Amino acid sequence: MIAEEFKQMLGQKSVIRELAEYATERAKQIGYENVFDYSLGNPSVPVPQAFTDKLVSLASSKDSMAVHGYSPSLGITSVREKVAASLSRRFGLDYKKEHIFMTSGAAGALAHALRAVTEKGDEVITFAPFFPEYTPYVHGTGAILKVVPPDTDTLQINFDAFEKMFSEKVTVVLINTPNNPSGVVYSTETIQKLADFLVQKEKEYGHDIYLISDEPYREIVFDRVDAPYTANFYTNTITCYSFSKSLSLPGERIGYVAVNPKCPDAALIINMCGQISRVIGHNCPPSLIQLAVADVIDLTADLSVYETNMNILYDGLTNLGFSCVKPGGTFYIFPKALEEDAIAFCKRALKYDLILVPADSFGCPGYFRMAYCIPTEKVERSLAAFEKLAKDYQ
Ligand code: PLP
Repeated sequence: MIAEEFKQMLGQKSVIRELAEYATERAKQIGYENVFDYSLGNPSVPVPQAFTDKLVSLASSKDSMAVHGYSPSLGITSVREKVAASLSRRFGLDYKKEHIFMTSGAAGALAHALRAVTEKGDEVITFAPFFPEYTPYVHGTGAILKVVPPDTDTLQINFDAFEKMFSEKVTVVLINTPNNPSGVVYSTETIQKLADFLVQKEKEYGHDIYLISDEPYREIVFDRVDAPYTANFYTNTITCYSFSKSLSLPGERIGYVAVNPKCPDAALIINMCGQISRVIGHNCPPSLIQLAVADVIDLTADLSVYETNMNILYDGLTNLGFSCVKPGGTFYIFPKALEEDAIAFCKRALKYDLILVPADSFGCPGYFRMAYCIPTEKVERSLAAFEKLAKDYQ
């Protein structure tokens, strides 16, 4: 029999994907250069040459089994060691391979982390605006996703609402910083306050509360922005990382789970991830890609264009009367729409070939997201289209 749950999901397709498909069709009519496609967070800069060189040399290697064979279920040992050493060097915690599990991107990391520390019916709390895929990710585990409404002045955590929504059923708090869709980076003050609150709640309720920190944009942080490493603030932190954005290779599907070495159950959780893989069939990320990323573990692609694009858009849009919190990282910006209904606003923007994503599915109606991982000259040209759009509201 057809599975009703997934059949019904066909009626709830990702708005982002639908807009990206529209942009592709429109480009066929008027030319790619004339469509200002801000829909998809697909990195636009090339992978580092060192990664390509390593990939080529690995693929040319005569040791076919080492390069193309099955990876051990927790990941290739030498790769886990390199990831652990890099994290220890950079953030000062004593990571070892026992704390690292290799995954297919951040999506794979979240699929494992969420299953490792929730039981059916537990609550997972996250904060709006949030990455809409968290809904199916959490739902798939049998846990319940609760979304804290945004503090639209700062787009940091709305602690008043959070504290009111918190209950004994919460076993996971899921954060994403630097944030998709807002581009905001949670400050040291925010992370410290969150950690203090969770420590107090663990004591009060007498059970563990895990902080799952989704960090695919960790390396895309702009000049002089305070970007604390979450695990340094809270013992029960599970970091979910991806090389998709930092190395510009989302199609290669590679990332990891890193459990804070100070967490008493760190090694247990990592070993359990190997068992979770058996259940979800999401196991053994490609050996070739694991070996290649491990070789460039401390490198990133040249990410500087994202800050250039952000500054052009932030200045351009605020000059036109848009209000928005200045992004501290990522390649997203999150302005307020010029009418209450952001879906209607984004529909109107299509008239000027601006492809903008309404933020209703991010838990923040009235706002829209722009993924500015597109060429700078196109960002500059799009401002004229925004000017026409803004005039419609004068
Ligand atoms: N989490 C967030 C906040 C994201 O923006 C994305 C991808 O855009 C993911 C997770 C999934 O990342 P990956 O493609 O590495 O699985």
